[in-house]
Amino acid sequence: MKPFQQPLLRPALFLDRDGVIIENRANYVRSWEDVTFYEQALEALRRLRDTPYVIVIVTNQSAVGRGILTLAQAEAINQGVVAHIRAQGGRVDAVYLCPHAPDEGCACRKPQPGMLRQAAADLNLDLARSWMVGDALTDIQAGQAAPVGHTALVRTGRGEAQLPLCQKAGLSGYLVVEDLLHLLPYLL
Ligand SMILES: [Mg+2]
Ligand SMILES: [Zn+2]
Repeated sequence: MKPFQQPLLRPALFLDRDGVIIENRANYVRSWEDVTFYEQALEALRRLRDTPYVIVIVTNQSAVGRGILTLAQAEAINQGVVAHIRAQGGRVDAVYLCPHAPDEGCACRKPQPGMLRQAAADLNLDLARSWMVGDALTDIQAGQAAPVGHTALVRTGRGEAQLPLCQKAGLSGYLVVEDLLHLLPYLL
């Protein structure tokens, strides 16, 4: 008889894109020209390459649902982001994108945990050992709703301005760090 084998569950590092890996744009990241990487994030992703974490970008791109970008354009920007991270010695294993506008009521737009749960099912992730890292209240909420074991707010992007919102929302148990690079001591 073959022994029953449990799938090996791996921890994930879920990363928001805008404000964590690349700079935010007031009117959405619409093209490759709008993409500016944080050097510290590239360095962090280099150092994370040979760790057990499955690195998953989870990004709300409502510009698609609002008719500002096509889904193909949004996906092309993500492919460029992943390619650049790899060219710089880093690693990204998967990207999940919510293309919906807020009024569509989807299950994937953060603060909903749909993208994280889908990734967990697709990639055999252990949510309890996973992290969600973002620069917004909604990132922390999505992480805690999934629920992942650990959440962190970075001060980059909108993070500094969102910190009081997190406090006002009564959230607890999330870490606050300068940027993605400063999260590494907690991960490794
Ligand atoms: Mg963000
Ligand atoms: Zn969605």
